[in-house]
Amino acid sequence: MKTFRIAIDGPSGAGKSTVAKAVAKRLGFLQVDTGAMYRSIGLYVYEHKKDPDDKAAVIACLPDISIDLGFSDEGQRIYLNGRDVSDDIRQNVISLYASKVSAIPEVRAFLLGMQRKVASEHDVVMDGRDIGTVILPDAELKIFQTASVKERAKRRFDELTAKGQAVSLDDIKREITERDYNDSHRAEAPCVPADDAVIIDNSNITIEENTEIIALLYEMRK
Ligand code: C5P
Repeated sequence: MKTFRIAIDGPSGAGKSTVAKAVAKRLGFLQVDTGAMYRSIGLYVYEHKKDPDDKAAVIACLPDISIDLGFSDEGQRIYLNGRDVSDDIRQNVISLYASKVSAIPEVRAFLLGMQRKVASEHDVVMDGRDIGTVILPDAELKIFQTASVKERAKRRFDELTAKGQAVSLDDIKREITERDYNDSHRAEAPCVPADDAVIIDNSNITIEENTEIIALLYEMRK
């Protein structure tokens, strides 16, 4: 079966998953959030009290890890060795673990086959950092979605303060700047736009407008 593959890449806080979910719902595609897969490996490493900076220890975990995806109207569910970890992987500490394990080539290779397989069997909206550059270099539509540091920091600040956490906007800005630098300069699958990606800066547009742009691009290319 020939599938239609929409790749959405971009830095943290650019609203990729939210938009990917909305686009997938509208077009009847599967949404595949690849960040959740790195987070699941991060969760396994965390729960087994391994040091995420110890590459050999992380690699040694891989044969014991099995990840499965489930799809519902509410979006993707993810299972780690049969357990639904969709909520557990959202803990703040797991973001750090995911970021560390995702820099290990063997971890990326472990997930690559799974990501390609799902995109060969279903029409997908797959979001991550390297979907258009490494995972699906011949995707039918590639989007690189971003927003200014100021706007992404504001969104994160609002999200955390709504949860009752006391945070400083300046600290969040600094963290985002640092993470952007690390993500775009790492040797393995850096977060950069593919040459043929459409770049959407959503600093000044709504989620609905961002979704509409992608749906229109799909109509033009299908
Ligand atoms: O997008 P999310 O924050 O859930 O991603 C978790 C971590 O996994 C990030 O630190 C990111 O660097 C990494 N990641 C990656 N490649 C992807 C998706 C996520 O390296 N395709």
